[in-house]
Amino acid sequence: MSAMTPHRRDGLTVKKVLRFLALPFRPASLRTWFAVRRFGDIPVEKILQAGIAGVLVDADGTLCGNGESRFPDSVVRHVRAMQEKGLKLAIFTNADENRFQQFAGIGIVTGVAAKPDRRGFEAAMRDYLHLDDPAEVCMIGDNYITDGGAIDAGMRFIYVEPVAGNENLAHRLTRRLAYFCARRHGGKDFRFLPGGPD
Ligand SMILES: [Mg+2]
Repeated sequence: MSAMTPHRRDGLTVKKVLRFLALPFRPASLRTWFAVRRFGDIPVEKILQAGIAGVLVDADGTLCGNGESRFPDSVVRHVRAMQEKGLKLAIFTNADENRFQQFAGIGIVTGVAAKPDRRGFEAAMRDYLHLDDPAEVCMIGDNYITDGGAIDAGMRFIYVEPVAGNENLAHRLTRRLAYFCARRHGGKDFRFLPGGPD
C-alpha cells in the first residue's frame, strides 16, 4: 500500500475477508499456544520460560470492551507486571490509538500495515519491540481474523475470550466462527488456562 493510500484499518478490509474465508482450510494459521478467559489470567512466568521476549497486545475485546478508553486497573497492573518481569511490550490495535494514557511509556503501534497483514506484525516486532525473531514474540488477542495474522508471521498466539463490547453483529459472528475453527482444528491441544476448556 502506498503512502498516498489512506489506511483503512477498522471494519471490513480485503485482507480480513480473505483471511476469514481461508481459515477453515488453513489450520496452521489458527495454531493457538493457549487460551484464557481474561487477559489477567495470562501467566507471565510461563511466557518467559518459553523463551518469549516480547508481546504484542490487542486492545479492543482483549484489554477492554470495543472502543472503550478506560481500562480496568487489573488490566493495567497485569500489563505493568509483564513489563516489570522483563517482557518487551507494545499495544497493536487497528482502531483508535489515542486513548492509552493509562499505559504511559508503552509503545502504541502506528504507521504499520493493518492486522492481519503479516508485514504489520513484522514491523511492530522490529520497530516497537526491537526484536528480529518472530519465534520470540507472542501476539495476545481476541480475534483470529485480525490478531491471528501473527501466526502467519511465525509468532505464538494467545487467545483471549472477547470482553463484551458494542461490536456489530457481523464482527461478532465472524470472530466467533473463526474461534470455533481454531478450537476444532486445535482439538485437545486447544486449552484454556487455568483449568479445563469449560
Ligand atoms: Mg480485538
